[in-house]
Amino acid sequence: MTWLKNYPREYYQKYERVQVQNDCGWYQVYKLPKNVYAICEPQHFQEVNFFLIMGESYALLLDTGEGFCPIRPLIEELYDGEIITFNSHFHFDHIASNHEFQPIHVFEDDSVKHVAENGLPKEALGAQLDEEMFQFGYPQTLDAENFYIRPYETEFVADGEEFDLGDRKIQVLHTPGHSNDCIMLYDEANKILFTGDTFYLGALYAHFDCAEFGHGNLQQYYETMKRLTAAIPQDVKLYCSHNDFIADWHKLQETADGLAHILHGETAGEREVAVGHTYLEDGKTISEYPCDGFSIVYNTSHLK
Ligand SMILES: [Zn+2]
Repeated sequence: MTWLKNYPREYYQKYERVQVQNDCGWYQVYKLPKNVYAICEPQHFQEVNFFLIMGESYALLLDTGEGFCPIRPLIEELYDGEIITFNSHFHFDHIASNHEFQPIHVFEDDSVKHVAENGLPKEALGAQLDEEMFQFGYPQTLDAENFYIRPYETEFVADGEEFDLGDRKIQVLHTPGHSNDCIMLYDEANKILFTGDTFYLGALYAHFDCAEFGHGNLQQYYETMKRLTAAIPQDVKLYCSHNDFIADWHKLQETADGLAHILHGETAGEREVAVGHTYLEDGKTISEYPCDGFSIVYNTSHLK
């Protein structure tokens, strides 16, 4: 599998590893600047990250990961107070342990409501549960045959809404494009923008068009990135939900520029989409636009 090249990832060495008891041999925890924990799942293809933002009155958990192992005991090992939980968006790799933390704060959207009410069957994950997607095979607690994502209770949040954790304030920004319900969390005082899947150092997905993943929208994605580059100061760091934890502000600008090129049909340098980056859609119409340290995957039929 190509995703296993350069493994283990060098970028983890930049961060302070935290040893925990309840990692199930699966999760890894890192302490990031400004009192934020990153919890990651480096043994699965998705290499997903989620975040525990520590506050004086309560902590905010952004996403709950892939659900292959119990996560609540690990989170409680890191923080024994009240926890309020958010989803950056409703895709399977960020919501699978929601049932351990409900209600989940989400942006109101029909796709979200459907998944929250019904959960997701394993078929909705495409090839993501195939054993080759796992670095060392399945974790002990995963019964891949019978895996499914459970329904969860939601509470809706609005663009601009603020949550006061006691000594820090977190603002919700609605950032559609990757999917319609995408939000980012902005910690202005600590100069952190939690970007979800709207930006990370990897293949950004703007191509989805189905019930399980919702609908990506290139124009909206571009408008989101333009709005962010105008609103977010350049010394803010991006805390990302896949791969390396932290990226620079300039990646917001580069993403906006890349999307503008795609929308204007200036797509020289396209390449075939890497294995694993298509899910349930027709691979023939999917292209990948390379940028510096990341790429944008889009559906050419959405440009017409
Ligand atoms: Zn994701």
